[in-house]
Amino acid sequence: MSALALGRSSRWVSRFKTLYSQTKLFLASSSFSTTSIADKDEDTGRPAPPPIRVSLTESAGRGVFATRRIGAGDLIHTAKPLVAHPSLSTIHRVCYFCLRKLQTTSRTPVVQYCNKECEEQSKVFYDVERRANWSAYDDYCRIQGLKYPLLVKRLACMVISGVAAADNIDILQPTNLSLPMISEMEEGFGLLRSAFIKANTTNEQIAFLSKTWYTSVLARIRINAFRIELVGGLYEDLLSSAAASIEAEAAVGNAVYMLPSFYNHDCDPNAHILWIENADARLKALRDVEAGEELRICYIDASMDHDARQTLLSQGFGFQCNCLRCVSGD
Ligand SMILES: [Zn+2]
Ligand SMILES: [Zn+2]
Repeated sequence: MSALALGRSSRWVSRFKTLYSQTKLFLASSSFSTTSIADKDEDTGRPAPPPIRVSLTESAGRGVFATRRIGAGDLIHTAKPLVAHPSLSTIHRVCYFCLRKLQTTSRTPVVQYCNKECEEQSKVFYDVERRANWSAYDDYCRIQGLKYPLLVKRLACMVISGVAAADNIDILQPTNLSLPMISEMEEGFGLLRSAFIKANTTNEQIAFLSKTWYTSVLARIRINAFRIELVGGLYEDLLSSAAASIEAEAAVGNAVYMLPSFYNHDCDPNAHILWIENADARLKALRDVEAGEELRICYIDASMDHDARQTLLSQGFGFQCNCLRCVSGD
């Protein structure tokens, strides 16, 4: 999630041009799947880029804007995760790649996939991952109740296997880490690095894996990761209801995306993000949106009262919400 008021530093603004052109490339790339309202490109027959642009907002850094009118209930775009990982509690009940629920639960420590394609795609991290022993690292996550180091581990495996650049998620806004937070992360960093070293990963392969890399990736994941709850069969209901009123199934894991992270927050949002059967995200309009209007999602449970929302947004995301609903005292 794009953190609204988190250190909108001049450093960030100066980086904006680069980020913006990366984003444009990203929007135009054919690997970016959109099945929406999607106009097909008349020449190629491929889905056209989604009807949005990423631009600077007046007060909240970058944001996502509609480039044309979008109707209530319309699918704005879909997004595949940059990196996703099941929760440790669901690891044997969901696909190790896409987090789809499995028909059968594995009783063995072997991870499972929902189909051959996911198994094939998981090679980008799993060939590296399976060479190492992760028991100490996973125990560290389990005992301390940490979920984000699992995403760092998967990303590190992707970097080592050569499919992801070490700066893969640098485009996302980081949260500010205090010194105590950084020193807390030292244990995880040490365990991750030693797992790779014990697996005879070469120094060259893990040259990127410094403490700075580890903490900077976690600083980004902390405010940009989405907790994935699959709505499954409730999909149809969502067309006419607000996300908050739908009871989703329990979370199956966490994932980080590029484009969905650029959406700013609103306690009375005009868009929402949802997951139907796996970690592929869908961004949908909750009401009619005019061309040029900013699209915003709600980062938290919108049914909470004003004070609870402010506390959560400030502690979890580092900003004070000044949306119309908050200003009106609701
Ligand atoms: Zn799968
Ligand atoms: Zn608000």
